Amino acid sequence: MTILIKPSATAKATATKDTLSADFAVIGLGAVGAATLYQLAKRGAKVIGVDRYLPPHPNGSSHEPARVTRNAVGEGSAYVPLVRRSQEILSDLERTFNADLMERSGTLIIGAERPTSGEDFVEATVKIAQQHGIEHELLSSAELKRRYPQLIGLTDTDYGYFEPKGGFLRPEPIVSLQITAAKQLGATVIPNSVVKRITQDNGRVTIVMDGIGARSMRICCPTRCGV
Ligand SMILES: Cc1cc2nc3c(=O)[nH]c(=O)nc-3n(C[C@H](O)[C@H](O)[C@H](O)COP(=O)(O)OP(=O)(O)OC[C@H]3O[C@@H](n4cnc5c(N)ncnc54)[C@H](O)[C@@H]3O)c2cc1C
Repeated sequence: MTILIKPSATAKATATKDTLSADFAVIGLGAVGAATLYQLAKRGAKVIGVDRYLPPHPNGSSHEPARVTRNAVGEGSAYVPLVRRSQEILSDLERTFNADLMERSGTLIIGAERPTSGEDFVEATVKIAQQHGIEHELLSSAELKRRYPQLIGLTDTDYGYFEPKGGFLRPEPIVSLQITAAKQLGATVIPNSVVKRITQDNGRVTIVMDGIGARSMRICCPTRCGV
């Protein structure tokens, strides 16, 4: 979950002892929030990121060693431009910070049997790849068995979609690097703080947090847009 508070050009927020002010507050610093924080900081925005834990951590979705990525997203064609852009950003991060964030191993998806009617996930993936000109190969069961002898139990009706430019991401280093980079660009990061309440009043959004073992704190963002 990431909540982004958008700014208004007109309203102003002030900082006091228990109140921080910012153009943007990003609530939740998983994969989405960390990327948002970094991109905003890169654009020169005054941004604060809050997470209830110290990210990266195993209590959300952006943990463990790997997350699959591929360009033809069988879940829906609308994701294709997002994935393409995310891979551009990742390559840029790798170059800028000399980091190893993605294993470009290719992605193999195996279907149990080509459907005689309708469309299964593999068919949907193939259709999206064709629509968007995404490089891919269709593999017969025999070809799958030849190329991947380690896959025991393939049947004669199994078939495969292979996308050479897919692979897997390293979510924890990706989160960590973007938070560090955002901080270097001036972002404020508040870990171990739970956002309890978000209110909007008089052209300002106020985010009320409870820090673990700390007193409650507020972030004020000038806004007319809400969350
Ligand atoms: C087991 C698993 C396997 C997956 N495999 C894939 C895959 O192969 N490929 C793929 O593309 N996707 C995969 N996904 C999905 C992908 O990992 C998620 O879509 C993505 O990590 C979500 O990121 P997020 O930033 O939206 O959420 P999260 O990573 O969950 O981040 C949300 C953050 O908000 C913080 N938070 C929540 N409430 C508050 C609060 N009140 N105050 C302050 N902070 C708060 C949390 O602590 C957390 O850090 C997988 C997911 C899981 C769980």
